[in-house]
Amino acid sequence: MDRTVSAAGFAPAELEIAALANAKAILLDWDGCASIANQPFAMTIEFLDVYGDRVVIVSNNSTLLPTDIAEALAKAGANFPAERVLLAGCEAIITAAESGRDVRTLVIGPSRMKAFAKKNNLNLVQKDIELVVLLRDTRFSYAKLDRAVQALRQGARLIVANPDKTHPGLNGALVPETGALFAAIAACVDLETIDVAVIGKPSAGLFEKACRSLNATPDQAVMIGDNPLTDIAGARAVGMGSILVAPGSSLTLKDLLPPPASWAQRTAQRV
Ligand SMILES: [Mg+2]
Repeated sequence: MDRTVSAAGFAPAELEIAALANAKAILLDWDGCASIANQPFAMTIEFLDVYGDRVVIVSNNSTLLPTDIAEALAKAGANFPAERVLLAGCEAIITAAESGRDVRTLVIGPSRMKAFAKKNNLNLVQKDIELVVLLRDTRFSYAKLDRAVQALRQGARLIVANPDKTHPGLNGALVPETGALFAAIAACVDLETIDVAVIGKPSAGLFEKACRSLNATPDQAVMIGDNPLTDIAGARAVGMGSILVAPGSSLTLKDLLPPPASWAQRTAQRV
């Protein structure tokens, strides 16, 4: 959205609020946009109270399950279904599962994501690896890097949950993300020679799946996020509108709430 319009005299976020009013689907980023460290902001609850029926949470997170986010929202007072949470880590595993249950797969990620992989019938192995799935693994090690690199050099495919090198943490911290681990692998192998799929934003897959879940086409949807390179660039690439927000910036989720009726009436009287 063109924020310069606001400087020309429109009410703040008027264009963005109009775009949300017309959207059939609203894709909402999670980390840094609606929450920090899986703690939703108070304004996220207000936002979902207004728009929740048309929202799909679309996140590059690769360590959480949809139920984790639904539970965090429930604790904060919002009733939001886990079925409308799309997470890059889970989607990476679901994509791997589509390769078939015989494919020998190394998952580099937290143990509960490995449990999710087993539940999805992935054949988890440590040797003779045909497929590597890379998630954010806080126990990433030289041994894991070595195992992945040898497998890829011998022809294994690679599925990466997201390309993000960091995401925002509590108190301004920077949390190393899956993309940083991907960079370590990329330092060792020639990616041109490897079959690599990157699942998370800005790739089109999550945007398109989110739209399908609400029977919308990308041009009927709006993506709201805090990352210009993933949320905004990815939305534009599939022909979707987008709104860049960030806590503490000139535009936050709170600014996207429709004005109170009294404000609208006053504006109408002035016109
Ligand atoms: Mg974000």
